[in-house]
Amino acid sequence: MTTPLTNLLDFDPAQLVAYCADLGEKPFRAKQLQRWIHQFGASDFNAMSDLAKSLRDKLATRAEIRAPAVISDHTSTDGTRKWLVDVGNGNAVETVFIPEENRGTLCISTQAGCAVNCRFCSTGKQGFSRNLTVAEIIGQLWMAEFELRRTHGIEPGPKGERQITNVVMMGMGEPLLNFEPTVTALKLMLDDNAYGLSRRRVTLSTSGVVPMMDKLSQECAVALAVSLHASNDPLRDGLVPLNKKYPLRELMAACRHYLAFAPRDFITFEYCMLDGVNDSDEHARELVALVNDPQVGVSCKFNLIPFNPFPESGLLRSKNPRIKAFAQVLMDAGIVTTIRKTRGDDIDAACGQLAGEVQDRTAVKQRMEKMAEYQKKFGADFGRIVEIPS
Ligand code: SAH
Ligand code: SF4
Repeated sequence: MTTPLTNLLDFDPAQLVAYCADLGEKPFRAKQLQRWIHQFGASDFNAMSDLAKSLRDKLATRAEIRAPAVISDHTSTDGTRKWLVDVGNGNAVETVFIPEENRGTLCISTQAGCAVNCRFCSTGKQGFSRNLTVAEIIGQLWMAEFELRRTHGIEPGPKGERQITNVVMMGMGEPLLNFEPTVTALKLMLDDNAYGLSRRRVTLSTSGVVPMMDKLSQECAVALAVSLHASNDPLRDGLVPLNKKYPLRELMAACRHYLAFAPRDFITFEYCMLDGVNDSDEHARELVALVNDPQVGVSCKFNLIPFNPFPESGLLRSKNPRIKAFAQVLMDAGIVTTIRKTRGDDIDAACGQLAGEVQDRTAVKQRMEKMAEYQKKFGADFGRIVEIPS
């Protein structure tokens, strides 16, 4: 039986040094190798011209550089580009590139499905399949950066203009429920011999896994976005079931604690605008009271996300004037508030639409069972198990 090849995309910088040491190589070789992989997008060891031929040969027999395969690749009329990426067993996740004037943002996924099962999110409605590996997470950035360079005729390597200047972990899945692989991927994003992004340009979005927020502050404090979506506990319990385990008071305390380590002096609160559910002036005033409370309050900005509807949600997007009025209440209280522009909705690339239309419906029951199992693992009763009409 042949031994499987080791995928070098799974390694953070320290692990690559250890891997090279096992091959009898010095740490600077690991650095060279890492540059080839993450700065030049190389997948062929033979092309790594400054590595000794003997090392290249050794690597070729034991290792590989393999990102998940791309199933489809669509570009929206507004330039947003969405890749559907195969993560095996009929599962696919999505990676979305959003070009803007002075930056290019990549939105990446961390899990196939999600066990949190928020009321308004189509990812949650698919159930949970599995955690992505490091190679599958960082592989999305690797694939997208070098694919974009190929498309625009930009040379690989540090001299070529970087296409992805910002990363947001806002695709499918709850990154803090796939903690170790997520942090390893974050470390690669920040490493100078890989993508060299500053901590301010990498944002992790969480539905509020309180203990893991503390852990993240210690291990890799990137910019943090928190999916708030409600101004009080009963409302949030119904929208983000995780709130039953980590209610607002604890969430706010975790945000305050995080700020001591964060690269920015505010937390971004995401707030999905749902018609008649969480979008009244009264809700906005309750939010102001919450975030300005001397005991529980947090320095923050608000990002209002117009809800992206999907058929089985039974929810509607708040009307634009309502969203503006809601924003005004927050801004009148001195809170910086933005309304997220919906990008790429002609190719289903907008927030919460990342469902992967290639979903195999027959596997839904299995994914629902996995969701229940995963929730139990975290000792939580945070997801109502919903059956999806087939
Ligand atoms: N699991 C993480 C990150 C992925 S979701 C989290 O929940 O924070 C990224 C953002 O999109 C979150 O704020 C999420 O609440 C929001 N979102 C999910 N479904 C949505 C939908 N249908 N319309 C608008 N925003 C949605
Ligand atoms: Fe999971 Fe985030 Fe969707 Fe909630 S909003 S189900 S945490 S991906």
